[in-house]
Amino acid sequence: MVVLKGAEVSAKIKAQVQKELMDLGDRLPKLAIVRVGENPDDLSYERGAMKKMESFGLRAETFPYPADISHENFKQEFQKINDDPDVAGILLLCPLPKQIREKEIKEIIAPDKDLDGISPVNIAKVFAGDETGFAPCTAEAVIQVLKKNKISISGKRAVIVGRSLLVGKPLAMLLLKENATVTVCHTRTTDMPKVCREAEILIAAAGKAKLLSREYVASGAVVIDVGINVDDEGKLCGDVDFESIQETAAMATPVPGGVGAVTTAVLADHLVRAAKIQKQNRGH
Ligand code: NAP
Repeated sequence: MVVLKGAEVSAKIKAQVQKELMDLGDRLPKLAIVRVGENPDDLSYERGAMKKMESFGLRAETFPYPADISHENFKQEFQKINDDPDVAGILLLCPLPKQIREKEIKEIIAPDKDLDGISPVNIAKVFAGDETGFAPCTAEAVIQVLKKNKISISGKRAVIVGRSLLVGKPLAMLLLKENATVTVCHTRTTDMPKVCREAEILIAAAGKAKLLSREYVASGAVVIDVGINVDDEGKLCGDVDFESIQETAAMATPVPGGVGAVTTAVLADHLVRAAKIQKQNRGH
């Protein structure tokens, strides 16, 4: 089985991003990472994103707020970041604490700064197949893993396990746009091993440690593991039982070292694209 390494895909995206940066002149785009509270998953994603921006030669700043900030105060603060012409793109770490009406915040984020595709405008564009919008970085990272490894998607049977608005659903739309035949599984799917064995491209995005083992994987399938979980021994693992599929799958992404590294590279790519759109809109 060939191991599809995220670092190699990330390096290819970096080369692309650096070419695009040349069109922007001296003005290096800046990412604003907005975080409420100290959730360990958010802190880990934030660290990864900061490191990636630095390695891509981009600017990034975190905007942390206390977990008990009121909705009104947070909305005001968020609006200031949203309006700041020096901020080219925003990553809002979700879910937000209960007192904040997340839907309202997602509705005010400027669509051309919405790097993770959480605004209604960008969600609609992804579902319409309109490439001028931003898709969620993780969903797009899966497409990049396939494309940068020259794995053809057109005409292939793809099965996604997970139907969240952040990963499963937008990914289904992106795969359809690439002309795959797409099936989406969830907790009510019956005989999931059989459905998954029909996949030539199998994508795991369920958030359940080692859910998919050998019986879910057809011989020769490409397996992309989006899951980030902690196993019984406290080690990071994906949704796929990686060891058990070695003899069955043709290719698979590991966890860690797979899709996660590509997600932040896509975030960097979106930041540069956002800066370009804003530059065009300013007319200089
Ligand atoms: P989520 O909102 O919890 O959604 C999980 C989805 O998986 C739901 O649609 C759920 O079905 C389905 N599911 C859960 N258990 C299942 C089972 N036993 N059988 C079939 N379907 C099942 O999670 P998410 O935000 O999409 O994230 C998914 C995973 O990706 C998590 O591990 C997360 O940490 C990871 N993630 C990784 C990255 C990255 O950069 N690599 C980024 C974001 C998220 P129902 O709809 O029926 O409940």
